[in-house]
Amino acid sequence: MDKTAVFAGSFCPFTKGHEDIVRKALALFDKVIIAIGHNFNKKDLFSVEDRQDWIEKLYLDVPAVNVLPYTGLTVDFCKKVGANYLVRGLRNPLDFMQEQELAQVNWRLNPDVETVFLLASPGYEIVSSSLVRELWSHGADYSPYVSYKLPEFPAK
Ligand code: ADP
Repeated sequence: MDKTAVFAGSFCPFTKGHEDIVRKALALFDKVIIAIGHNFNKKDLFSVEDRQDWIEKLYLDVPAVNVLPYTGLTVDFCKKVGANYLVRGLRNPLDFMQEQELAQVNWRLNPDVETVFLLASPGYEIVSSSLVRELWSHGADYSPYVSYKLPEFPAK
């Protein structure tokens, strides 16, 4: 049976750090669904449609990757798409503390969905969407952290 994993996040925007995690997930799973959700603690700067479009273009030649927006609980989305694995990336101990809590809550909601943590490769630990947003909003060079061009600031 095909092993499908959901890599969920707000991806606002999707960075080279996220790409690194997808690369690792592809070595482990037959199919990786990049699921664009909304984090209630974060403000969305780019539309879901734009984020989906940018990510889809990155994986045009990779049939094992699908990009889908979702609302509601991540574990419910996993069930809907037939994924038994939820991939999350870890950069540091703080990520671990937050992700461990989230994984335990998700396990209680649906024990059939196993959370798999993948570590950031050396050099990618400092990459975050918030760093990119900060650089972008000041007109600074964000290209070391993102593989595509973002629209001019301010976003429409
Ligand atoms: P969320 O708002 O759900 O945390 P993010 O888009 O910020 O969404 O992150 C999605 C996932 O990717 C999270 O598990 C986060 O820890 C992980 N992640 C973000 N940046 C990196 C990176 N540079 N290296 C590894 N994992 C990362």
